[in-house]
Amino acid sequence: MPRATKIVATLGPASSSAEVLEGLIVAGVNVVRMNFSHGTKEDHLGRAQLVRDLAAKHGKPVGILADLQGPKIRVGKFADGKIMLKSGDKFILDAKCELGNQERVGIDYKELPNDVKPGDALLLNDGLIVMDVEKVRGSEIHCKVRNGGVLSNNKGINRQGGGLTAPPLTPKDMEDIKTASAMKADFLAVSFPKSGADMYMARELMRAAGGRSQLIAKIERAEAIPALEEIMNACDGIMVARGDLAVEVGDAAVPALQKRMIRMAREMNKLTITATQMMESMVSNPIPTRAEVSDVANAVLDGTDAVMLSAESASGQFPVETVEAMDRICREAEKSAHVALDRDFLDRVFKRVDQSIAMAALFTAHHLKVKCIAALTQSGSTALWMSRLNSGVRIYALTPEKETLTKCSLYRDVRPFYLAYEGHDREKLLREAEDTLLRAGVVQEGDLVVITNGEPIGQSGGTNTMKIVKVGEHRVA
Ligand code: PGA
Ligand code: MN
Repeated sequence: MPRATKIVATLGPASSSAEVLEGLIVAGVNVVRMNFSHGTKEDHLGRAQLVRDLAAKHGKPVGILADLQGPKIRVGKFADGKIMLKSGDKFILDAKCELGNQERVGIDYKELPNDVKPGDALLLNDGLIVMDVEKVRGSEIHCKVRNGGVLSNNKGINRQGGGLTAPPLTPKDMEDIKTASAMKADFLAVSFPKSGADMYMARELMRAAGGRSQLIAKIERAEAIPALEEIMNACDGIMVARGDLAVEVGDAAVPALQKRMIRMAREMNKLTITATQMMESMVSNPIPTRAEVSDVANAVLDGTDAVMLSAESASGQFPVETVEAMDRICREAEKSAHVALDRDFLDRVFKRVDQSIAMAALFTAHHLKVKCIAALTQSGSTALWMSRLNSGVRIYALTPEKETLTKCSLYRDVRPFYLAYEGHDREKLLREAEDTLLRAGVVQEGDLVVITNGEPIGQSGGTNTMKIVKVGEHRVA
């Protein structure tokens, strides 16, 4: 059985060599994330090319997600890369500091000293380090460390309760949108959006740069929660960005929000990525903790499209082992996932012909207990709609479009295959579809398969036809 849930792995120093990248792809990474908070344009372009070469070598459609830094406030760099802070230490965040040391470090948002006041709690590195602001003197914010820890280059700063972030897309983001477009990223993630308008702005900029990525809104600000519906309407998917979100809304609120967001996204035909600290201990350990195993499994049971690795694959000691562990956990969790079409399924009203066929195919496949659905698709939309319901049916997106192959890499339950046929003959097309599935070993002679496609064949246009086929036998209507 192929894994239904997808794995996103962030690339970084620990995963830039061809050897490790290949290991990640073989271990089952479906989408790689280029984190524009770190690394240069050349790093990202080089990695993207390497990923594409290795994916082609292994015949796997690996998607690329470009993740914008957004208006996150970060500390600068340290002379030694990192320092150790103990509780009780005095520490200065200094807008004028060039290179950090044990006493102070720079900040990229020069206005921060104007935004904070004595008594504020600042949380660094996703809340791992807490410091209380004692006084502000010019460019310097004087703090006393409450919870200490290791502070390394470019870690984020939040204020408890939120409200610190600057305007939605920074000049750097605008440049990075151009890089992401040049890279032909399948997905573009926007950090810290607080409204639908922020997402529209990102989409405009991406289009102007010639990009065609699916837009992912990272939900990581307190303000984004009441605006969830309009944000979802303005994007193709969301990331449950638990790192910043937990700092802004309080960590205990995040699990329920995760469930609500995933449910809502599926109802609105949107994608979800569950992110941050899923396998955090594997940054330095070869096996996950019990709690991490449960966290990944629960995200799968919540219905997420994908689970994501950050530091684990970008800078950890066991990137490939982490993906292997995640793969194992997802597969096992999927076995116990609840399979049922929602009760309100029959009451749904569809305005589009292609969507109606997609749902009819899903209904049929679910009840007839067919082996799988083969969705012959140009854009991937039929496969996306089918994958929004817990039908328990495997969906194969068969497409002649190279872009669609990687676009579907994030869709839960969907496995994309390249379909070579380009003629106009219906029977030949359907036979090629069967043969593609047979060659991939996912069906056998005699299996029932629901096929959807658009007719007339060879003309672009939406899905309008569904057929039930017994593989190898021509042909049961
Ligand atoms: P980041 O986003 O890794 O870019 O900070 C994810 C999160 O905040 O959880
Ligand atoms: Mn974040």
